[in-house]
Amino acid sequence: METVLRGGNVVDPSQQCEGRFDILIGEGLVVDIAKRISTTGRVIENIEGYTVIPGLIDVHTHLREPGGEAKETIVSASRAAAAGGYTSITALPNTNPVTDDARKVEHLRALIDHANLVRIWPIGAVTKDSAGEKLAEIAQMVAMGIRAVTDDGHGVQSAESVRQALCMCAELKIPLLQHCEDETLAGQGQVHDGQIALQLGLPGISASSETVMLVRDVVLAQACKARLHIMHVSSAQAVQWLRMVKSIGIQVTAEVTPHHLLLTESAVVDDGAMAKMKPPLRTKADRKALQEALVDGTIDLIATDHAPHTVEEKTGDFSAAPFGIVGLETAFPILYTHLVKKDVLSLTQLVDRMSCRPAALLGLPYGTLKPGYAADLTILDLEQERTIDKDKFYSKGKNTPFHAWPVYGMPVLTMVGGRVVMKNGIVTI
Ligand SMILES: [Zn+2]
Repeated sequence: METVLRGGNVVDPSQQCEGRFDILIGEGLVVDIAKRISTTGRVIENIEGYTVIPGLIDVHTHLREPGGEAKETIVSASRAAAAGGYTSITALPNTNPVTDDARKVEHLRALIDHANLVRIWPIGAVTKDSAGEKLAEIAQMVAMGIRAVTDDGHGVQSAESVRQALCMCAELKIPLLQHCEDETLAGQGQVHDGQIALQLGLPGISASSETVMLVRDVVLAQACKARLHIMHVSSAQAVQWLRMVKSIGIQVTAEVTPHHLLLTESAVVDDGAMAKMKPPLRTKADRKALQEALVDGTIDLIATDHAPHTVEEKTGDFSAAPFGIVGLETAFPILYTHLVKKDVLSLTQLVDRMSCRPAALLGLPYGTLKPGYAADLTILDLEQERTIDKDKFYSKGKNTPFHAWPVYGMPVLTMVGGRVVMKNGIVTI
């Protein structure tokens, strides 16, 4: 039976659509989108007062399974994604074992099929075991359907390994996603190399440790005519270089996380290890540069870097705590509240950066509500204020500095291929 989503405020940057429209859904697809669609013989879902957008897509999600099931599983991450309005997420390869050959991709696919909730796109490793030397079985993994490679968790330290990988990625027409961090410069750093590091007596991580690798890899990507994507850009210096590189026509894309857009280094003073991540939160000037870069297109898209850890790991000694925070269930509402409602970014731009552009990076036929495409969509409540509550997360990871933040824009319904997977905050499966 076909369904009419009636009277919602539709925001779809992929077809410059903004306004009150009905959406007709049948057989998992968007069939029509128009001012008025006949409801005769169809199920009606009245969504007046709510906003409909193409489903959110995350290109940077750590699912932890296999090997890290105490932190997260594919099922728990799928449910967190559905709750957060995400219809597609990725499975980054830094699991145990690392996803570095076709057999491991196949195993992952079986786990994903079993979870059967949101779409999950496996990403392969760049190097064997992500050890940074010998290349992983990239071509075989691409044949199994992976859309990109990364050694995230670490940057690939060897320039020659990156060069070989970029040339192979160019041939296979996939992007290489790089976590930019020169480990000889970052050393044992814990937080941004600045005032707070001094105050707390912690070793710092400089912006140059990120920028040095960014510039090196842009040079190599240019030589190989490859698509390089810079993950979690964190500093004004990196933004400056990206802007310059893009202005001379080099093919490079970049992402920024919600936490780098909203927080600064001082968050570790209040939130301890809940604000410990790599790259680290930096200064107000860095945050401002990241916001501006997102607006002017120097940074293409927003990715969560959803990185679940156990409570024990994150509440013990600061220096021993692992890097990273969860993001799937907080990303949209915190960004809507602090960027859109404060006029830094329009709602259309936010949806573009969280759905359309992530789809383009991975070559996915989503991020749109055009007729004929899959009915992957998210319905938002932009009016009612709610509160972030980590204890209600579907994710096993409760490691967030955003607990108790008042927000607007909470997703109230998530639909994947015409199937409702979350309604009123409750995941249906
Ligand atoms: Zn990373």
